[in-house]
Order: sequence, then C-alpha cells, then structure tokens
Amino acid sequence: MKFRNFKLVGYVVYGRGAFDQLDEILAPQRKGEAPMIFLVDHFFEGKPLADRVPLRGKDKIIFADVTYEPKTKKVDALAAQLKDEFGTVSGVIGIGGGSTMDLAKAVGLMMTNPGSSADYQGWDLVKVPGVYKAGIPTLSGTGAEVSRTTVLTGPTRKLGMNSDFTPFDQIVLDPELTANAPFNQRFYTGMDCYIHCIESLEGTYLNEFSKSYGEKALELCRKVFVEKSEWDDECDEQLMMASYAGGMSIAYSQVGVAHAVSYGLSYLLGTKHGIGNCIVMDHLEEYYPEGVKEFKYMVAKNNIEIPKGICKGLSDEDFNKMIDVSMGMKPLWENALGKDWEKIMTREKLRTLYEKF
Ligand code: NAD
Ligand code: ZN
Repeated sequence: MKFRNFKLVGYVVYGRGAFDQLDEILAPQRKGEAPMIFLVDHFFEGKPLADRVPLRGKDKIIFADVTYEPKTKKVDALAAQLKDEFGTVSGVIGIGGGSTMDLAKAVGLMMTNPGSSADYQGWDLVKVPGVYKAGIPTLSGTGAEVSRTTVLTGPTRKLGMNSDFTPFDQIVLDPELTANAPFNQRFYTGMDCYIHCIESLEGTYLNEFSKSYGEKALELCRKVFVEKSEWDDECDEQLMMASYAGGMSIAYSQVGVAHAVSYGLSYLLGTKHGIGNCIVMDHLEEYYPEGVKEFKYMVAKNNIEIPKGICKGLSDEDFNKMIDVSMGMKPLWENALGKDWEKIMTREKLRTLYEKF
C-alpha cells in the first residue's frame, strides 16, 4: 500500500467541564449488566475527580499506579483480573496521563485478544477489536489520546501495540482536568508534544497532512512555553489542542532521533518518556539545530532543570542494550535521516551520544 490508510478516534468531545457528559456518552455503549471499568491515574485517588466518575451497576474504578510506565505484565494481569471477576466488560475508560491512557487501550484490547500483550508489540499484530475504549487526558502532550499505539515495556522490548484496533472509540478533552498538574510534569509532557512536532516537521516522511497539524501544534506550544509569562486557563486549553494536533501530525509521519534514543534510556533505566525526551533533545543540535535552540530557550525561561549524568558508570553491556533498543526503531531513524540512515547513525556514534547524558 502506497499511502497509509489510518484509523482515527471515533468520537471527540472538547470543552471545559466536558467530563460531566461522560455518563450520557457511555450510556449507549453499555452492554446489559457488563460494567464499565474506569482506570484512573493514582494521583486522583481521594481527589474530587474520582467522585465525579459516573459509576452505575457493577462499574468499577481501578486506580492505576503509574510510578513506572506500563508493562505488558501489568496489562495481562489487569485483563485477567477483569475476565475473572466479570467475564466480559462493556468498556475500559482511561483517565490520566499517557501512561494511564495507554494502559486502558492495552487492557481494552487484551479483553478479547488471546495470549499476552507482549505477543502484539509491533505493527499490525492485533487481529480482533478489543472492547469499547475511551480516553480522558489529565496531562497534555503525549498525543496518546489520538494515536494508534499503546507503548508498553515487555520482556524483550519497549514497543507499542500499533494497530487499527488501538485508537480510542471516544475521547473527552476537558482542559480543566489538567489544571492541577505540577509545573515540571506539565513541562516535560508538553515538551513531548514540542519534540513530536520538530521530529515530524524535520522528518523525511513529512507531507502536507502532517505538516498542517505539526505547524499548528508547534504554534500552540510556543504560545504556552515561549510567549506566556504565567500559566493560565488558556494554557491548559492550548496545550490540550497542541497535544491532539501533535498526535495527528505524527499519525501521518513519524517521530525521530529524540524518541529513538530516549526509548533506549527508558528500557534500561526506566527513564520516563517526557523527561527522557528532554534529556536527549538537549544534545541533538546536530540533527535539529533550530528546534534544540528553541528547546533550550524554553528550558531556561521556565526554570526547568534537565537531569544530567544519568548514563555515568554504565557498563559496555548496558550501553549495548540501549543501542540495540534504539537501533531497533527503524521507522523512526528512517524518518529522521532517510533511507540510508544506517550509514549516518552507527553504533559508535550512538554510543558517543549516550555517553553525553
Ligand atoms: P504519565 O501518564 O506517565 O504521568 C506522569 C505523572 O503525572 C504520574 O505521576 C501521574 O500520576 C501524574 N499525573 C497525571 N495527571 C496528573 C494531573 N492532572 N495532576 C497531577 N499529576 C498528574 O505522563 P505522560 O507524560 O502523560 O505520559 C507518558 C506515557 O505516555 C509514557 O508511558 C509513554 O510511553 C506514553 N506515550 C504514549 C504515546 C502513544 O502514542 N500511545 C505517545 C507518547 C507517550
Ligand atoms: Zn513522545
């Protein structure tokens, strides 16, 4: 197939307070007695948002501990628990940052697909639709709300379940939900979006579709992190739409060097996605000169500390593991550096880069 024919999210509702429409939105999706399962970021345990979840009948809230980013083992365990307890469910609703949304997508798929989620890490390996899935972001930037993947760390790799069955059936974009996030977290997740845009706009896969979304997302990121002197409601609204547009941009292109390299860090060291991308981006002048310059400006303007020295003291074996994971991200490298990327990004060069972090 020459042009990618990609699946989008089914329904989108946007607006301050849109969360309150959830009950009404879910009603037609309920299948008899089968419950809706709400996977809610553990940050909200005991917080007012948890009381606003529209529970009916046997519905259940499960607070997702996202101290570590989602693992295939955790997905399998959650799906097994739900099958045990309920047989089948009407749907899985993820309320949280990228980690919780990814967990919800993966658990939704594993309610109907046999085996382990690790069997489906890759491209188009998922063969049957999962149960109904909805995503409600409480952090803006990852684009997980619109993407056709769910990033999981498995026994041998960190890779998404990329498939046409992965996108949410419904997303609820309510900027109010992101209002209480700590500034550092907001910055790191927001930079994920900024970096998606740079990687997409500077990539060889670029076309007018992804360019249109990427430019808009970049403009919104700049409004929030360059132009504004203080965070306000408008920032929550702009960053939420930046995340959406950034996700749409990479849907029809790909991410690039920062992601390919940061996947190695998170596989070996458990470095979280947003912060890992920032650690890498800080050293990518050679690949994205303008983007890195602006990134550094935003870091300084927003008084953010980018961690340093995280690769100090690692063994050759450790470096090789990260290089293996990174080199495995072929489409990312091809997008970033072109078809001959292997001639440009050698293992030695990548090692030198990892030694800088
Ligand atoms: P996250 O979901 O990992 O959450 C980070 C922290 O913020 C957690 O401690 C969480 O409890 C907390 N948090 C969430 N919402 C909050 C709120 N409103 N107030 C206060 N704290 C809050 O962070 P993220 O950056 O949104 O997501 C990163 C994850 O997304 C990674 O697992 C990454 O692999 C994944 N990701 C997925 C895609 C995709 O397309 N599927 C794309 C990019 C990243
Ligand atoms: Zn990302």
